Amino acid sequence: MGLHREWRRFKRIGLRAYAIHFKWRSGNRLIRLLNRFARERKECPCCGWRGARFLHYFGKGYYVAHVVCPRCGSHDRHRGLVFLLRKMLAETSAGTRVLHLAPEKALAPLFTSRRDLSYVTADLHGHHWLYPVDVLADVTLMPFRDGVFGLVVTSGMLEHLENDSLALEEISRVTAEGGRVAIYVPHFADWRDRPTLEFGAPDPKWDDHWRIYGSDLVTQIETVGLKCSAVSFGDLLSPSQLDFYQVRALDTIFIGEKLAPASEAASLGRLSAS
Ligand SMILES: [Zn+2]
Repeated sequence: MGLHREWRRFKRIGLRAYAIHFKWRSGNRLIRLLNRFARERKECPCCGWRGARFLHYFGKGYYVAHVVCPRCGSHDRHRGLVFLLRKMLAETSAGTRVLHLAPEKALAPLFTSRRDLSYVTADLHGHHWLYPVDVLADVTLMPFRDGVFGLVVTSGMLEHLENDSLALEEISRVTAEGGRVAIYVPHFADWRDRPTLEFGAPDPKWDDHWRIYGSDLVTQIETVGLKCSAVSFGDLLSPSQLDFYQVRALDTIFIGEKLAPASEAASLGRLSAS
């Protein structure tokens, strides 16, 4: 039975993918064993899991070593995002509406633990690997009024959309004046120095992503009326923390801030005065 199943998998995904899958699965078995006996050297800040090693990730077309939390499934980006979102939430007042697009299970507890916030999740489908979705919606045409959310969080979603600018326009539309948007997308480590690489179609070698982001993302975010700043995990965490939580220093979160018309006018005034 087992051999038959393996043969069917081999025929379905081909030699290269099968070899990666085999490496992923056997590697993770070894890590799970290691985690039962070896010294705890890593921690997941999303769920509190501690152990010797994170698990490998097997994506569609690629493989990343030591990146997945065995308990909550967080990836390195979630573990870095937690530290930034904690800071942003500390600055978020009671009663604020928070919109989490394609809501990841590893991040949802951050928001649900704040009972004084109104937490709304939205996704086109609502997959089983996501936190339960409140509103089934196309992010390029969302059923929300203008300016209702004080915080919008989107991680690992825009790269799956052909028209990401339309999604950004919608995200900006539903964000309140003074509100903020936290955006994570796959990007080049040296994103400041190179443009976005468009594949022109979903690339099966990269989990069906349409692109890898570069410096154009900042322009895209500012074009929809959000003031953009970038925070890298290396700015938030010390080298020993980066190692402990298995987070990449150069991974960057893009923060868009919806300026109130008055401050927009003031900043434009400053620009024209300089
Ligand atoms: Zn975890």
